[in-house]
Amino acid sequence: MTKLDSKIPAGSIAEKWTNYKAHQNLVNPANKRKIDVIVVGTGLAGGAAAASLAELGFNVKVFCIQDSPRRAHSIAAQGGINAAKNYPNDGDSVYRLFYDTVKGGDYRAREANVYRLAEVSNNIIDQCVAQGVPFAREYGGLLDNRSFGGALVSRTFYARGQTGQQLLLGAYSALSKEINKGTVKLFTRREMMDIVKIDGKARGIIVRNLVTGKLERHGAHAVLLATGGYGNVFFLSTNAMTSNGGAAWKAYKRGAYFANPSYVQIHPTCIPVHGDYQSKLTLMSESLRNDGRIWVPKKKSDAEKVQKGELSPVNIAEEDRDYYLERRYPAFGNLVPRDVASRAAKERCDAGHGVGNTGLAVYLDFKDAINRLGKNVIEARYGNLFQMYEKIVDENPYETPMMIYPAIHYTMGGTWVDYELQSTIPGLFVGGEANFSDHGANRLGASALMQGLSDGYFVLPYTMQNYLADQITVPHFTTDGPEFEQTEKDVQETIDKLLSIKGKHTVDSMHKRLGHIMWDNVGMARNKEGLEKAITEIQTLRKEFWNQVSVPGEKNGMNIELEKALRVADFLELGELMARDALNRNESCGGHFRDEYKTEEGEAMRDDENYMYAAAWEYKGQDAEPTLHKEELVYENIEVKQRNYKTA
Ligand SMILES: Cc1cc2nc3c(=O)[nH]c(=O)nc-3n(C[C@H](O)[C@H](O)[C@H](O)COP(=O)(O)OP(=O)(O)OC[C@H]3O[C@@H](n4cnc5c(N)ncnc54)[C@H](O)[C@@H]3O)c2cc1C
Repeated sequence: MTKLDSKIPAGSIAEKWTNYKAHQNLVNPANKRKIDVIVVGTGLAGGAAAASLAELGFNVKVFCIQDSPRRAHSIAAQGGINAAKNYPNDGDSVYRLFYDTVKGGDYRAREANVYRLAEVSNNIIDQCVAQGVPFAREYGGLLDNRSFGGALVSRTFYARGQTGQQLLLGAYSALSKEINKGTVKLFTRREMMDIVKIDGKARGIIVRNLVTGKLERHGAHAVLLATGGYGNVFFLSTNAMTSNGGAAWKAYKRGAYFANPSYVQIHPTCIPVHGDYQSKLTLMSESLRNDGRIWVPKKKSDAEKVQKGELSPVNIAEEDRDYYLERRYPAFGNLVPRDVASRAAKERCDAGHGVGNTGLAVYLDFKDAINRLGKNVIEARYGNLFQMYEKIVDENPYETPMMIYPAIHYTMGGTWVDYELQSTIPGLFVGGEANFSDHGANRLGASALMQGLSDGYFVLPYTMQNYLADQITVPHFTTDGPEFEQTEKDVQETIDKLLSIKGKHTVDSMHKRLGHIMWDNVGMARNKEGLEKAITEIQTLRKEFWNQVSVPGEKNGMNIELEKALRVADFLELGELMARDALNRNESCGGHFRDEYKTEEGEAMRDDENYMYAAAWEYKGQDAEPTLHKEELVYENIEVKQRNYKTA
């Protein structure tokens, strides 16, 4: 068993990152020009890393699926980005952000990484302001803050409901400057199909040109994956349609351990599913919970009438409404973390109090906020979100409460990385949502953008340099060696196989079936029996896929069905690992909720004695069981206790 070395630097928690930077190896400017780096992904993590590494002087090649880096999934982020600036003077600090993040993640994240994240959070805001990111400001000119779940302070910086877009434009301008200088070479409409290893180190990638269909080889001294999350394994999610787990999965199959695959975030405020032919779910940002109050009818009879369309929520009297989050969690109320809010919504709907025609929805009501602040204030804060809701649901949320329900949103699991964000394949680094991240078993709202930009602007430029310092005598790689040859051949064979099946089921129909298995058994509530069933069902579905899928079209040229089939083939394997990981973890923590392990009040019940570790899985072959490696988590700077959102 390879020993997992997380390479946490010595020293007190507040000094670790400073110590690391003080002692790391550097590459002199003349040598940086001799070194090539591949960055896969142009979202906030990849875009920021590529721009920063190029600014340092390395030769960077950057790849993305979309026709422009600006279309990475990060553009969808709505609500905001956290930082411990304490501008509102409400008691925030680096320590408090660190504390809230570790607690929010249910004590399943690595302390040293989380502290570093909190520490550099303030630099991110300065960097983005310098780039011209138009964060919301107060009348006096100071940057404005709002609140997100799991915190009692306001530390979320935002640009209306379009924070991701504005941050991505900032990263894109930094990247464009480097493209113009020639230090970054941009490859759009390319999908990474595999990693190329030479003598055990990551030395390149094989990509498919999505326009011509041709396979291309690219070599480098190091590879960074910043390819986002794998929430689309569930078919329906809030993720962009092209979000996929392929790059991380290929890395796993080449030897990079995959950590905590079952840690999935289910976001409480999404527009409920409304039909069988839906392929996408829409998020209503968590920021809405600043002013919106969540409730369901107290009486089941009212809920039933609402479901049948016989009663409007505006006609339900105040005393007949159950503001269940405020009732159950007086201290945090509507701002409890996402896992807690999602489970509470499910509990009310399962008990028969849900609304909407399916009974699988709860209300998010702005009536009180509009009465208190005026419609214009609410419109200024959330106007674009209200407009989006009205377009999709055809109801005016200023007049009738929004209907929301939990949906798959974010994946805390991902490639296992050490403190340097390096995977178990030397020279393969992973950043942003693609790594197993700093969020433990549950991510707090507005912390993904913070982590992506922290990794990209402030961590990887140092840690990758530390690795590259002993690569200066390694010449540029040619791509005609046997390793590139063989890896390209493997990719070609998979593509040919998929096209040759000519079965009777569409890729989407099989993906949807996988999604149902995942949602029913590996979703919001899990249990041993369901997880075992899921593993068997996924294995059967996978066999059927490889015998019965229909992938029309050619390999040479644009072929969206082929692109989807390649991604679903990965999901069909990754889904099984997620179920295995959930089955292994005989406890409930954060987003991982096992029916068998809950307190009398229905809260997640951890088992710290046996499960206080990150589960890192090692691939052992196509039909072999993966091996589990455990990274023990040690908490020296925070007291580990049962999460409590009832009192401050
Ligand atoms: C609707 C929505 C709203 C959100 N709002 C917030 C918010 O307000 N605050 C917050 O903190 N977080 C939010 N999040 C989460 C956050 O947006 C994401 O976690 C984050 O943007 C991920 O950034 P990333 O750089 O890791 O990956 P992404 O932005 O997903 O970028 C992935 C990149 O990798 C490329 N790529 C992927 N696979 C391949 C491949 N095989 N080959 C080549 N290229 C590849 C893609 O083309 C893309 O460029 C939200 C998420 C959603 C879904």
